Amino acid sequence: MKRAEKKKKKKKKKKKKKKKKKKKKKKKKKKKKKKKKKKKKKKKKKKKNSSKNSGEKMREEVILDIQKLLSLSDEEVLNAVRKLRGEVICPYCGSREIVKIGFINRKSGFEVQRFKCKNCGKTFNELDGTPLSGVHSLRRIVLIAYFALYLKFTPSTIMAIVDLKYPTVVRLYKRVIENKEFFNELLELLLNEQ
Ligand SMILES: [Zn+2]
Repeated sequence: MKRAEKKKKKKKKKKKKKKKKKKKKKKKKKKKKKKKKKKKKKKKKKKKNSSKNSGEKMREEVILDIQKLLSLSDEEVLNAVRKLRGEVICPYCGSREIVKIGFINRKSGFEVQRFKCKNCGKTFNELDGTPLSGVHSLRRIVLIAYFALYLKFTPSTIMAIVDLKYPTVVRLYKRVIENKEFFNELLELLLNEQ
């Protein structure tokens, strides 16, 4: 944990420098990008906050984020995924002609909806066709996504924190990196709720 924290600090310093540079660049580009103005405004606000206050403030935010993620149940993560996912279609043939055929009970007590495709006859569950297909613990991969995407931790650092075997961490880490956009959206939704 100590090593991880040191790394964290170093990376934060780097990030800060980068952010300052980015800010300058952004000012130049500002006029050109009127369309994206709204989105950037939000980002700018965030940046202002983090540069106004010291690294202390950022550390507090990270701790709060992690506490929030640790407090989530698999079911809560699944509900956020449902919001992001939209309509379920057959992952094999793309058909919308599907019927519900009950639930799969996962070990941690949450239920995943199963479907059967009327077109190709195959069965699947609501996580198939998403980056969470076959993932046993949703709350755990979300935590790993936070470490990987927000804190830029390496798999070996993550392994030291989450107490999983290295190959498992690498498998989940890869899943996160290959689906950055999905996990960023999911994290944003989970961290900003309530
Ligand atoms: Zn199908």
